[in-house]
Amino acid sequence: MARVYNFSAGPSMLPESVLKKAAEEMLDYQGTGQSVMEMSHRSKAYDKIIKDAEALLREVMNIPDNYKVLFLQGGGSTQFAMVALNLMNKNNKADYIVTGQWAKKALQEAQRYGDAVAVASSADKTFTYIPKTDRSMFREDADYVYICLNNTIYGTVYHELPDTGDIPLVADISSCIVSEPLDVSKFGLLFAGAQKNMSGAGVTIVIVREDLIGNAMDITPTMLNYKTHADADSLYNTPPCYAIYVAKLVLEWIKNDIGGMEKMKERNEKKAKLLYDFLDNSKLFKGTVVPEDRSLMNVPFVTGDADLDAKFVKESTEAGFVNLKGHRTVGGMRASIYNAMPYEGVEKLVAFMKQFEADNT
Ligand SMILES: *Cc1c(COP(=O)(O)O)cnc(C)c1O
Repeated sequence: MARVYNFSAGPSMLPESVLKKAAEEMLDYQGTGQSVMEMSHRSKAYDKIIKDAEALLREVMNIPDNYKVLFLQGGGSTQFAMVALNLMNKNNKADYIVTGQWAKKALQEAQRYGDAVAVASSADKTFTYIPKTDRSMFREDADYVYICLNNTIYGTVYHELPDTGDIPLVADISSCIVSEPLDVSKFGLLFAGAQKNMSGAGVTIVIVREDLIGNAMDITPTMLNYKTHADADSLYNTPPCYAIYVAKLVLEWIKNDIGGMEKMKERNEKKAKLLYDFLDNSKLFKGTVVPEDRSLMNVPFVTGDADLDAKFVKESTEAGFVNLKGHRTVGGMRASIYNAMPYEGVEKLVAFMKQFEADNT
């Protein structure tokens, strides 16, 4: 069977060259006579894999030396609790900007552990925009301000970061990590479940400023304490070895085949523009997000007619464009066009949408 164009929000497409390399190395990883899946995480060969993955991430994302990179488990969702347990530690207060379900879940989790509040929200318009904030909206004694940088479900992204002054900014970058350059020094902590843009499911990447480690609440379980993993170079217990290995391959692809973050951004902008330009000129399809806050990664769109949406999802699936059904809270369709989605995938999707429009108007 031919490979499909997979527009899933996650897990999502991986570069074909990465999958081929992983297949090549499946039975015998570089002369070790074993698969990475079978390998001790304390072995020399694996130590090099995890160290290379970290070094590549530091290089590609230009991560400053005073930040730790951690490879954890539990997905983006476990970070909702970890962030609060580890960082809401001075005044037991945190300010959240609610731009969708993921930010809301993070807020609700933090509320279990302290005085976490929503200081802004775009719930009034089904999260179709990023709310404007200024420094005066944040409590001066908040331990951190929390945002979800790219909103996977609603297709919005921050083009400009909130000004939080000296308050550390925490961001969920699950669906936009390594999609374009990001100034890590502007954040106290970044985290991402890897299955959207960096690997298969299983590994969660945390990038945290060193001074924010080591002050977790007393109730924090050992495994949920950043210090545990920072002190052990992410080898306190068995890490998600294979997913970290795939992340290494993806980072090699970004560095060597794409040419780094600026090039990645160019590619992603070109791809997204193709789809947004079509949506802006279509008589049938329409994007749901205000133009100034549109994501490069997730593009929700609708026809305005639920039956026609369903027909489009069915016919597009049959044509090899899979997982275009929108999130149940938005309806319609969503094309997730992460790093690994080739330009031709979007080109062919747009051609299919044009034909569908001609046939149905
Ligand atoms: C997918 C996603 C999550 C949840 O990730 P899990 O790894 O499934 O827990 C959290 N935040 C964002 C922005 C996401 O896209």
